Amino acid sequence: MDTIDLRSDTVTQPTPEMRAAMAKAEVGDDVYGEDPTINALEKLAAERMGKEAALFVPSGTMGNLIALLVHCQRGDEVIVGDLAHPFLNETGGMAALGGIQAHTLRNQPDGTLKLEDIEGAIRADDQHHPITRLILLENTHNRCYGSALGADYIGQVGTLAKAHGLGLHIDGARLFNAATALGVEAKELVAAADSVTFCLSKGLCAPVGSVLCGSDEFIRKALRARKMLGGGMRQAGVLAAAGLIALETMTQRLGEDHARANALAEALREMDALEVFPQHTNIVRFKFKEGAAMGPVELLAAMKERGVLISWGGAWGMRALTHYWIDDAALKHTIEAFRGVLQSA
Ligand SMILES: *Cc1c(COP(=O)(O)O)cnc(C)c1O
Repeated sequence: MDTIDLRSDTVTQPTPEMRAAMAKAEVGDDVYGEDPTINALEKLAAERMGKEAALFVPSGTMGNLIALLVHCQRGDEVIVGDLAHPFLNETGGMAALGGIQAHTLRNQPDGTLKLEDIEGAIRADDQHHPITRLILLENTHNRCYGSALGADYIGQVGTLAKAHGLGLHIDGARLFNAATALGVEAKELVAAADSVTFCLSKGLCAPVGSVLCGSDEFIRKALRARKMLGGGMRQAGVLAAAGLIALETMTQRLGEDHARANALAEALREMDALEVFPQHTNIVRFKFKEGAAMGPVELLAAMKERGVLISWGGAWGMRALTHYWIDDAALKHTIEAFRGVLQSA
């Protein structure tokens, strides 16, 4: 059996259909706006998000950074969760390249920020304070066990943002996982937002790329920021061709990944040595209970010997993600491998 790679959904390879579409993609110079495949992807992405316009970017990190640069000036403040990807895992780009200050609030276990915490964090008009400019939410929330934030909650944050003249950006790297889990259209989850980034390259299997969506005016500014960051790609229609298939076909099947993740979480719950965190979408998080006979280093090595890769993030515990390349046979093998390793410990 091939290696079963559950470390992340970023490890997904493009599908044969994507490789075929990439090989025959029509391309042009996208910096001149002349790549028909990128133009088609951006049009479809904007429609799916219910926004006026979209911009293809090389990564989710760049999409979020561009959004931050467009919404905020140097010295401005963004209200963001203390477990948010743009705060924890994007190399401090907002501070380094945008001079933007993160005003972090405690993320609740379901990935939300409390409305009263947000309200309390908005700065008064006072020369001593930075200017609050933006609120940033993440959906699904990676660190918060892949939890999905609902449209009602996001609408409430949007109303709060509007009342204070703030922007709302959503890091929707796994937005389609959220939409699938909640049984709604992705656009309903970003209706209250001024901008959204989503990834084509995770559960949707495209090899490269994310899309940033917003108003025409926002995307016009985003285009300049993308160029400044070196993200102006030329004949990148070969990548967008895979992205089109990702959007057209891969968004419909994510429920399968969630069902398998759920089955894995259930199986892990039966193992005495493990504590499994709340299960929502395609991210399974777990750790060893106090006093367990084994630790993460040994478990990862023993699982690897059985052809299964999982990841370990120190205090964050261990992680296994399901995705397109994890079928029922791979799931069965994974559960058997866990049983074999943990029951012999
Ligand atoms: C993966 C991810 C991103 C972007 O990652 P890239 O590797 O830069 O594409 C952004 N936000 C969240 C929540 C993510 O999980």
